[in-house]
Amino acid sequence: MLDHPKNESSSTDRAGKERISPPKQQQPEPGLDAEMTPLADHGESSYEGRGRLEGKRALITGGDSGIGAAVAIAFAREGADVALAHLPVEDRDAENIESVLENAGVQVHRFPGDLRDRGYRDGLVDEAAAALGGLDILVNNAGKQISVESLDELPDSQVEATFDVNIFAMFALSRAALKVIGQGGSIINTTSIQAFEPSAHLMDYAATKAAISNFTKALAEQAAPRGIRVNAVAPGPIWTPLQPSEGQPIEALPKFGHDTWLGRAGQPVEVAPAYVFLASDEASYVVGSTVHVNGGKNQP
Ligand code: NAD
Ligand code: MG
Repeated sequence: MLDHPKNESSSTDRAGKERISPPKQQQPEPGLDAEMTPLADHGESSYEGRGRLEGKRALITGGDSGIGAAVAIAFAREGADVALAHLPVEDRDAENIESVLENAGVQVHRFPGDLRDRGYRDGLVDEAAAALGGLDILVNNAGKQISVESLDELPDSQVEATFDVNIFAMFALSRAALKVIGQGGSIINTTSIQAFEPSAHLMDYAATKAAISNFTKALAEQAAPRGIRVNAVAPGPIWTPLQPSEGQPIEALPKFGHDTWLGRAGQPVEVAPAYVFLASDEASYVVGSTVHVNGGKNQP
């Protein structure tokens, strides 16, 4: 294996991209983007659209912050109308992203609610489709990650909640989406490097991500004859509110992502183009695939 020396004192990686070392910090789960130090980059000032999603309508879960917010900004700047789903406690982040999307001149709708609430979950896709006048893209991105050192301390209630939000909700949302998304549409699921390389302290989370990767392939085969493409994105360590809100041990934050081949964590804006590609007609022959965006890690 190659040695990848990391210069811990450098503020950039070898490609000149900023390398962050977040101070130790903690927020209650699910965490707010607005409370992160440093703030994450969702592409607010950098993402340039090229009309690649003109006329499409997308529902993005967890679209208030992190990867979902960056995907929302990219989709809007590519010309898509967007519905954002998020937890009600994240209104502050969601309003901020909403105003960035409005500036792109597209339709924006917000659907605050808890995906563990069956009433909300079962109605979300239809409500979003009604507001947008139809649906072409579902991004199953909402996720819950709580670090627990040992299985002895991992309660069943957490295991159930993590599975409920991360994978059980995907079954319900995808079932509803297959009824409203037409030919040429797509579903994109957020899996993780954790699906393939689990961290011991993220046992329940990593197991849901392995399930998502598997689910993506089976759903892709079912949906393909309907002309709907299903794919996944597998991010590596990305600086989002998931991490400082119990997603990592606090002491691990300053070196978060420093073990990748690039020696740094990624920013949400660096993940969004993979979703744009998979959602666009350019990916017309890409089905059941996973795009890995992880700064360099051994991957399948
Ligand atoms: P994030 O905290 O910004 O996004 C997660 C979102 O999930 C929250 O904003 C919230 O709106 C939503 N959510 C959580 N519980 C919910 C519930 N009960 N009901 C409704 N919505 C709920 O963090 P992120 O890192 O951008 O996470 C987005 C996705 O990316 C997740 O699926 C996560 O597992 C995945 N991911 C993240 C990383 C990373 O390093 N940040 C790496 C791989 C995969
Ligand atoms: Mg959030």
